[in-house]
Amino acid sequence: MNLIVPIKQVPDTTDVKINPQTNTLIRDGVRSVTNPFDMFAIEEALRLKERFGGKVTVVTMGPPQAKKVLEEAMAMGVDDAVLLSNRAFAGSDTLATSYVIAQAIKRIGDFDLIVCGKQASDGDTAQVGPGIAVRLKLPHASFVRKVRTVEKRSVVVERSADDGIEVVKMPLPSLITVTKEINAPRHTSFAGKFRAKRTHVPMWGPKDIGCDEAIVGLEGSPTWVDRIFTPPMKKGCLPMDATKENIAKLAGEILKR
Ligand SMILES: Cc1cc2nc3c(=O)[nH]c(=O)nc-3n(C[C@H](O)[C@H](O)[C@H](O)COP(=O)(O)OP(=O)(O)OC[C@H]3O[C@@H](n4cnc5c(N)ncnc54)[C@H](O)[C@@H]3O)c2cc1C
Repeated sequence: MNLIVPIKQVPDTTDVKINPQTNTLIRDGVRSVTNPFDMFAIEEALRLKERFGGKVTVVTMGPPQAKKVLEEAMAMGVDDAVLLSNRAFAGSDTLATSYVIAQAIKRIGDFDLIVCGKQASDGDTAQVGPGIAVRLKLPHASFVRKVRTVEKRSVVVERSADDGIEVVKMPLPSLITVTKEINAPRHTSFAGKFRAKRTHVPMWGPKDIGCDEAIVGLEGSPTWVDRIFTPPMKKGCLPMDATKENIAKLAGEILKR
């Protein structure tokens, strides 16, 4: 079973800062890490490989230093890695990002399942996984909390829905995005770190993946961030900490009405 895991390098903070002039993320002075949800995606892919054989390939689109997250994935046991890095990709929105990653997956070829994180901790849209599936015309299930079984040419998963748990059977190849309930990611091993340092990670640009440069990057992205702001508090709203006392007080107020 061949698995592909798209992973993103994100700032190691939930306090994401935005440049008010460009409306892009301020990355300077912030340590970068693998998007936490992608750790669960890597782990699930490794577990499926251990059960059914095959190989795991990680792919990331980002600046050259994003190679670090690929090396970390290899240190966990991933077999291959691809870095998608080029000035043309910079500033891509989620439509452009999913297009670039889909083009790269077409070049990697021969895969059964793509495993993404549920969402990135910085952009936070949860659009890229389903976007890749649409670009590749694949069935997909988002918010997957368990992979139940993999049969000959299908996969059965449990996904978290608003009103419960849905069980979905999909033909392979397909794509899933995973939540943190799915597993506990393993640590990197010394042997893995050693192998990661010795493995060549190819860096692909638009020409390597047959990418139409007119529809990627800041200029080619059909959506843009117009303004980022905290919405003003609605009249009558009272900010309060979620302490036991406050919750009891609030519940009392509601019951009185
Ligand atoms: C309207 C709009 C305009 C934007 N404009 C800019 C801009 O001008 N400049 C800018 O820097 N950013 C911009 N962004 C942010 C940028 O588009 C996103 O960071 C990027 O597209 C990924 O989306 P996300 O972070 O929401 O990922 P999500 O969709 O939340 O990520 C879900 C999963 O997709 C995969 N994934 C996501 N991104 C990658 C990646 N790069 N490589 C590999 N796998 C990945 C991972 O598995 C991840 O867990 C913009 C976003 C929007 C919505």
